[in-house]
Amino acid sequence: MKKGALGPALKLSLPPSDEVAFKQFLTESGTFMDGDLLVNRDGVRIVSQSEIETPPLIQPSDNQISLADFDACKVIGKGNGGIVRLVQHKWTGQFFALKMIQMNIEESARKQLAQELKINQSSQCPNVVVCYQSFYENGAVSIILEYMDGGSLADFLKHVKAIPEPYLAAICKQVLKGLWYLHHEKHIIHRDLKPSNLLINHRGEVKITDFGVSAILASTSGQANTFVGTYNYMSPERIIGNQYGYRSDIWSLGLVLLECALGHFPYSPPHQGEGWTNVYELMETIVDQPPPNAPADQFSPEFCSFISACLQKDQKDRQSANELMTHPFINMISTCYTVEYVWIRCKPT
Ligand code: ATP
Ligand code: MG
Repeated sequence: MKKGALGPALKLSLPPSDEVAFKQFLTESGTFMDGDLLVNRDGVRIVSQSEIETPPLIQPSDNQISLADFDACKVIGKGNGGIVRLVQHKWTGQFFALKMIQMNIEESARKQLAQELKINQSSQCPNVVVCYQSFYENGAVSIILEYMDGGSLADFLKHVKAIPEPYLAAICKQVLKGLWYLHHEKHIIHRDLKPSNLLINHRGEVKITDFGVSAILASTSGQANTFVGTYNYMSPERIIGNQYGYRSDIWSLGLVLLECALGHFPYSPPHQGEGWTNVYELMETIVDQPPPNAPADQFSPEFCSFISACLQKDQKDRQSANELMTHPFINMISTCYTVEYVWIRCKPT
């Protein structure tokens, strides 16, 4: 089209000729967009560049994406099970976190894993990290996750000594919303709630990740009772092998919050300055000793009471995520204490 009465010449380009590549350009709604040309079930539309700010973004249910569509940028984290990379989608420019876990599993276990991860993909809660897609290739499970640019609470704790109560209340409120969703909507026990599984982004959103992953890994490796990870945040009933439920996550939440407030893991090791070198000693302490608490001379009565509502050794005495949402500690938050603010102030340069 020539420049003239209809405005500047429009840029038109043809979609890829082979069918596979073409399909990769389509979003779930069947929209193909290139330059000013937009084609979907409703027909063809030519739109001005100002109408289109970004290409159609990848949706969790888009099953057209493949690993080859991503460029690796850098390694952003390492856990016990694998490595996490920042990756960019070649066609949309969107960033994601790619978590790769090396595991050689059989076909049937792989199917079960894919099924379980599918449940995670359907998450619709702003406080739960979105899982977009999972793949199994060359003995490794790769999971495409929403990228959280503020990193984890564990990363954050390396840069700040402790987190003040009002910020903790803002963080906790979001974690409780995520937990409530997992427990009541999805009927999932997280099983591995810890600082590295709570992620933050620049909008000040806090989201839970890796829910159910430890259980999936244990069951798919054929060892239903094997736990791969840290025992630090595990509830007493789990340690002794009793039946456990949603409230085992509440125990973990209590310990995470207390650690953030104190600036160190709440259970003191037997030899000062050495840390917990013997995991059995730690497990024995959690099971046999009274639960840790927030010292009343350092913290508000609201915070002390919240910690005590979480850290009850008998799970029946612990409050649920729903009950904790109405706790006075959560309602302490004034609007000036947003997570965004604390993130910007404390973000390492
Ligand atoms: P474990 O292997 O026991 O689960 P972990 O939680 O520390 O331990 P990973 O889940 O592999 O291990 O995460 C390691 C680190 O990668 C996190 O601490 C965080 O810094 C980073 N990370 C993980 N997922 C994301 C994500 N979606 N966005 C941004 N960073 C992430
Ligand atoms: Mg993790």
